[in-house]
Amino acid sequence: MSSNAEEFQTALKTALPILQGMKKNLRRAPKATQASLQRLQAILPASFESTGKVAPAALKSVAVAPLVLTSEDDGRLAKLEILNRKILDCTHCAHLVSSRTQVVFGVGNPFAELLFVGEAPGEEEDLQGEPFIGKAGQLLTKIISAMEYTREEIFIANVLKCRPDMPVGESGNRKPKPAEMATCLPWLKQQIELIKPKVIVALGLTAVEGLLGEPQTMRDVRGKWLDYNGVPLMPTYHPAYLLRNQTLAEKRKVWEDMLLVLEKLGRPISGKQRSYFLEKV
Ligand code: SF4
Repeated sequence: MSSNAEEFQTALKTALPILQGMKKNLRRAPKATQASLQRLQAILPASFESTGKVAPAALKSVAVAPLVLTSEDDGRLAKLEILNRKILDCTHCAHLVSSRTQVVFGVGNPFAELLFVGEAPGEEEDLQGEPFIGKAGQLLTKIISAMEYTREEIFIANVLKCRPDMPVGESGNRKPKPAEMATCLPWLKQQIELIKPKVIVALGLTAVEGLLGEPQTMRDVRGKWLDYNGVPLMPTYHPAYLLRNQTLAEKRKVWEDMLLVLEKLGRPISGKQRSYFLEKV
């Protein structure tokens, strides 16, 4: 496939989930400039209109043109793409560069009002290049869904973008060290500055400590509003903790944190949502 075709497919992969997410969230219907629509029409092969898919052969002559969404047109897609490439090439931590499969930049909507931050990629995330896709990730997806969002509507990232290395012969994952997180934090800071979320949820104590740069205790911070550079920050348990402690009481604690997040975002909350995990608590 030509490099133009690859770039076009990458652009489609980026744009379609964003547009689908915006379409679902009727409060922010997607709009495009007339010029952008004309450029899109000009570069889309005829096969796309009838099938919704682009045949590789049709992509050979495609010229890539940047799309501009007028409702959010602040150049952030282009800036995020540049940042993405810088992070993917990052070699600040030699020991992680030599052990990682790839850098895990983050995934989701560049215009997300809600950002979930975890500590670091695990083995599965390192292999697939996407955060929160293992069992804990599947539970996070359920939480996101219970909040009436999709993964495409929000953004998910880690404090550390590379999987913490393991001693030779050992499997599993380890927590990132404070120094590793401090080295990587400027990347997340730049992501946050570009995405401009209204609320950040820190998943687990390590993520809270990575963001704030100092030791905390979960008992002190969970369920309380903190601040990250002017953005409200809600610390809650990591989904992996809930997998180890599957009591209604623990699930309810996380859910109460998410209710606070929904209230902060001005999202409607149903009676059913308010009563999740209350039955036997
Ligand atoms: S962990 Fe972060 S700072 Fe270290 S090499 Fe990976 S991307 Fe760079």
